[in-house]
Amino acid sequence: MSVFIESPERRTLRRAVADLGRRYGAAYFQAKARAGLPTEELWSEAGKLGYLGVNLPTEYGGGGAGISELAIVLEELGAAGSPLLMLVVSPAICGTVIARFGTEQQKQRWLPGLADGTRRMAFGITEPDAGSNSHRIATIARRDGDDWLLSGRKVFVSGIDHSDAVLFVGRTEDAATGKLKPALFVVPRDTPGFEYRPIPMELVTAERQFQVFLDEVRLPADSLVGDENAGLLQLFAGLNPERIMTAAFTLGLARQALDSAVEYARTRTVWDTPIGAHQGISHPLAQCTIEVELARLMMQKAAHLYDCGDDAAAGEAANMAKYAAGEAACRAVDQAVQTLGGNGLTQEYGLAALIAATRVARVAPVSREMVLNYVAQHTLGLPKSY
Ligand SMILES: Cc1cc2nc3c(=O)[nH]c(=O)nc-3n(C[C@H](O)[C@H](O)[C@H](O)COP(=O)(O)OP(=O)(O)OC[C@H]3O[C@@H](n4cnc5c(N)ncnc54)[C@H](O)[C@@H]3O)c2cc1C
Repeated sequence: MSVFIESPERRTLRRAVADLGRRYGAAYFQAKARAGLPTEELWSEAGKLGYLGVNLPTEYGGGGAGISELAIVLEELGAAGSPLLMLVVSPAICGTVIARFGTEQQKQRWLPGLADGTRRMAFGITEPDAGSNSHRIATIARRDGDDWLLSGRKVFVSGIDHSDAVLFVGRTEDAATGKLKPALFVVPRDTPGFEYRPIPMELVTAERQFQVFLDEVRLPADSLVGDENAGLLQLFAGLNPERIMTAAFTLGLARQALDSAVEYARTRTVWDTPIGAHQGISHPLAQCTIEVELARLMMQKAAHLYDCGDDAAAGEAANMAKYAAGEAACRAVDQAVQTLGGNGLTQEYGLAALIAATRVARVAPVSREMVLNYVAQHTLGLPKSY
């Protein structure tokens, strides 16, 4: 089946998730987010219906499909006004990395819970002094007998307070060269020496971001996920799905904004015709719709390449999709706000909250500039500038 024509199974999944999303919708999501509460009812119902682990292997309770299907789930929930940000992290990054590189024991311990949503895992890579430069990550894991001792700081880690554990990117020292190489560790939330504090953010979201302090956190040998010597490859097995899922999250929100704007433009009349009859309103909305659709195509291409096992091609496509989604969504939300005039900035219509929510995709999980650097160097072959 071509990537352009969705299979009947994917269409059925899309419709079913959209129905679920509509039953909760934007009013539910925003009430929870403004009260600082997680959207627990939606998470658990989506888990019971099998939507949270569609990408995970069936032998561990997942749906046996791919990132394409998980992206459908997130996009449709977002389009219905109630996105689940932790889908970007828990099944897409952590579930993927454990399914691809974890030991049998790690798979049995984590995957069934990640698949049905009864367990959640956050992901921490960003550090205060490293930021976009992940080569500068300074969270160090040293051996102590059979154990590991993990120390460092992280920032902006989403959803720790409602997660059972965090998959942290640290570094281990190469015994031969002394060089530091990336390695992934699962750290249960209640491990001594692991502390986290919320960062006050100007975002209307059900998930909060945290700064993390890891002070000689003692971890058993089997906390290391995957091979100590293949860190980067394993990391990107998780980071590409993260980029694709961020695109899905953001494009869902863009669709929600455009739907609200089109509905408003159809009925709001201040002269003799609905405002949607003025091309000053309809053309920008049409333009945004085209841009969102183009970004969706790129996201679907990236997901398809990833699901086919072409990690290298998926890397380029996932970067491009994340970039395109961030740009298209920011423009779409801005135009939606403009379409509603003053109502675009009321809590009742909830569009102003989407300005910040979609803006995130220009910064995270990899910034717009770092994607442009990647394309300039790897796609165009231009010299590295930094
Ligand atoms: C809502 C939200 C949720 C997040 N959730 C998580 C999470 O769950 N886990 C996690 O680990 N992280 C998370 N992050 C962090 C996110 O991934 C980082 O914010 C992002 O990678 C950028 O890093 P930084 O903020 O340190 O920016 P910096 O790296 O300091 O960059 C600042 C600016 O400088 C630009 N810049 C830097 N280097 C270059 C260069 N070489 N060329 C051109 N421009 C450059 C950047 O593009 C950017 O515009 C989250 C962030 C947000 C906002």
